Amino acid sequence: MEYKTIREAAYEANMQIPEQHLALYTWGNVSAFDKAAGVFAIKPSGVPYPELTPESMVIVDLDGKVVDGSLRPSSDTPTHVVLYREFAVKDGAAINGIIHTHSSYAVSWAQALRPVPLFGTTHADHIQTEVPCTPYLSEAAVKNDYERETGNLIVSHFRSLSLNPAEVNMVLVGGHGPFCWGATADKAVYNAAVLEEVSRMALNTLLLDPAAKPLPAYIVDKHYQRKHGPNAYYGQAKK
Ligand SMILES: [Zn+2]
Repeated sequence: MEYKTIREAAYEANMQIPEQHLALYTWGNVSAFDKAAGVFAIKPSGVPYPELTPESMVIVDLDGKVVDGSLRPSSDTPTHVVLYREFAVKDGAAINGIIHTHSSYAVSWAQALRPVPLFGTTHADHIQTEVPCTPYLSEAAVKNDYERETGNLIVSHFRSLSLNPAEVNMVLVGGHGPFCWGATADKAVYNAAVLEEVSRMALNTLLLDPAAKPLPAYIVDKHYQRKHGPNAYYGQAKK
């Protein structure tokens, strides 16, 4: 089996989508990227999760061309192409996995066109900003090349807010839903699960107190640094 490593990484990560309750039916997709080879493995389009195998993953290059596999790749493949090209190759961020889901709470914020506020330390442990939310795609963009333009919109939104994709590894596409990424396909799924939980907590916070304020910066910094900073002390020391 060619591209065995990324096929298996993509397969394992895709199987976590139903396990983590991040999407129903065939919704959602994960890809696993091999930067050196310039290709990624992605879920085939419209195939139910129980029918997936490592062999059924489709190998696509950064021009969006299928280089190996007999099935059609996920319809969201052009979005993955844009994000790998811009964030992983051009910016050099350590991104080797991308996920798209329709998890309910993250989608709810996307449909309200609202970034997820940074209300607490659960959120601050992962990213130090609110979760960005793009505006709707324009009519011209949707009619032109919908999935590619979705990627372009995410990239332009990050550029306009000066967000670093190596640090902010999640985004909501307005009216649609979340895309997340990570150093591995597995980490991307983890980030999507974190986003869903943080989205749920933020909604509950606003239900309890519609005037809730973002977490003070000094607590945000403390929580992020103890996990990700140069003197991180969360978890066990690396051997
Ligand atoms: Zn979607």
